[in-house]
Amino acid sequence: MKNTFIFDYDDTLAPNQCYYCDAKIEFQRYVRTKIGNKAPDVQAIINLHTEIDLELLKTMGLSRRRFPTSFSETFKQIAESRNYPYTEQELNEVYMLANAAFDINPGLEKGAEEVLDFLAAKGDELLLYTKGDKKIQQKKIDLNQLQKWFQPENIHIVDDKNSTDLEKIVGDRDKDRTYKVGNSIRSDINPALEAGIKVIYIPCETWAYEQQHNGIDASDPRIFVFNELTAIIKNYEGL
Ligand SMILES: [Mg+2]
Repeated sequence: MKNTFIFDYDDTLAPNQCYYCDAKIEFQRYVRTKIGNKAPDVQAIINLHTEIDLELLKTMGLSRRRFPTSFSETFKQIAESRNYPYTEQELNEVYMLANAAFDINPGLEKGAEEVLDFLAAKGDELLLYTKGDKKIQQKKIDLNQLQKWFQPENIHIVDDKNSTDLEKIVGDRDKDRTYKVGNSIRSDINPALEAGIKVIYIPCETWAYEQQHNGIDASDPRIFVFNELTAIIKNYEGL
């Protein structure tokens, strides 16, 4: 009997968060270079940026412009608080520092192709359920030829993940044989448990929004926690 695996994309099938971290490091350096010894402490800059980014999330969602806008807005606020006469060009430069995070195509995670090939060979059904800017996500899917494993009708790119939408995607599939595979407790694991399906949780670093959750119940028999994607192959018979 076949299983259904519903995969998350970012930081499950391909690295993502680390490039946002790189952009934030560049941003720190930029602030320090421009504002000199009047620049706030690194931790204060991180906290201010997180606050601004989460605030912008309420109005801009996961649109491509939000993360870069959070950089220019943070720079503007720091500059104003330090009486630094910032220019439009500088705001644009920090905007572009953030933008760089979108232009990297690192390829898939180690072992991802092997796992997808393995499941496809087993005759299991593969679905992709990813959130983010539609154009950015579609570009990543195309560049990494995900169509090789996921039929076009099985690729779902959404603004945000929730159990209602997930239930619709699951439809009348056998919930005991349907697994959500993802790295985020808030966006992958909790909606899947609410939708009544099983989960394969492969922890990977997340950002402030995804860190808002109450953890997982390790004794829940519907939850499998693996350190790496390839553990799906090793543990396949026990799922
Ligand atoms: Mg993810």
